[in-house]
Amino acid sequence: MSLAAAPAGSIDWARIRADFPLLSRQVHGKPLVYFDSANTGQKPAAVIEATDDFYRRHNANVSRAVHMLGTEATEAYEGARRKLAAHLNVRANELVLTSGTTFAINLVAYSWALPRLQPGDAILVTRMEHHANIVPWQLVAERTGATIKVADITPDGALDLDALQAAMTADVRLLAVTHVSNVLGTVNPVRDICRMARKRGIVTVVDGSQALPHMPVDVAAIGCDFYALTGHKMCGPTGTGALWARGEHLEAMPPFLGGGEMIREVRFEGTVFNDPPHRFEAGTPNIAGHVGLGAAVDYLGAIGMAHVAAREAELLAHLTGEMRKVDGLRIIGNAPEKAAVVSFLVEGAHAHDLATLLDLEGVAVRSGHHCAHPLMAWIGVPATCRASLAFYNTHAEIEAFMGALSKVRKLLC
Ligand code: PLP
Repeated sequence: MSLAAAPAGSIDWARIRADFPLLSRQVHGKPLVYFDSANTGQKPAAVIEATDDFYRRHNANVSRAVHMLGTEATEAYEGARRKLAAHLNVRANELVLTSGTTFAINLVAYSWALPRLQPGDAILVTRMEHHANIVPWQLVAERTGATIKVADITPDGALDLDALQAAMTADVRLLAVTHVSNVLGTVNPVRDICRMARKRGIVTVVDGSQALPHMPVDVAAIGCDFYALTGHKMCGPTGTGALWARGEHLEAMPPFLGGGEMIREVRFEGTVFNDPPHRFEAGTPNIAGHVGLGAAVDYLGAIGMAHVAAREAELLAHLTGEMRKVDGLRIIGNAPEKAAVVSFLVEGAHAHDLATLLDLEGVAVRSGHHCAHPLMAWIGVPATCRASLAFYNTHAEIEAFMGALSKVRKLLC
């Protein structure tokens, strides 16, 4: 039943949580408190069942066989593409299905940037990017002679929009920016940023990995050139994701990988490539995974992403309020617009020790550099702890986390 149109207060979040089988397990003899959804999200039964059902009843390869199973598999795979496209408000033939954000950004790097950039050009990134939105650009820069420019952030962890605008000089050909920071939780005003870039003829790549799980995202309204996303953070299986690109870019881009599925005709004299998006999907894709991602989109759509965002804002306010009361605890990232991601440090305790002892209390948080070394250098530490929430978390879990944190602090500090 769709809850998307229901009044916010009427949603039974406990029932929704019960859709996630893993959340009822115990860890070290304690009820699991899963606060690591920015790393990967948990999966509702509907997603697990869709993947299972595909293998049990429809398994065949896509776009190859004329038999019934082949037709069913192709329809299921293409159906998932259509669902995801509708979720993002884009056209399905502009959506390349990939193994995740990393592949999606590398596709832009190799197929769009590599053939176009040259010495004298610059690629602009921000200090809060994940390595997946830094390293591919460094590889492009090395091979083309382009340079990398970095836009800085304010002390509270927001993007410095004046500095960003000032950095959009005539040599900048491409801007790579995250929609939501996986470390700071900052939600960047990507619509305004893309408008600024577009005025200057700069092509924009938005990393949507951490935005899709938390809020409604209208990619068409953002006005970017490329939008990358990963399925496993939005209730979908691992090894799924997509790149949305403007049709004109996809038409002009050479393939990144060659092989089956991406061709129309192959002769030894030369090959005629398939149309986008299939031109960029060489080889057998993760069919069952994307069928599962289609189910995840259905699942999130039935709850309504506006409800998800409101629920998480409430959980975030609770968690942040409690954490601010703790002496010696520093929250890293206090931008006015935040998703439910809270990085923190505790005076006198190493992030890894904290996370290890919290685990013994049943609490799963991530510790480390969060694939964001340049941001860690800016914070001035090698690692932070990160508690990241999803709509399936509860206020009671926040209380349990705070209790565990207090116990662990007494042991460490
Ligand atoms: N970008 C951001 C902001 C992320 O948080 C992540 C994953 O942690 C990625 C990119 C990479 O996603 P994937 O490993 O699924 O390709």
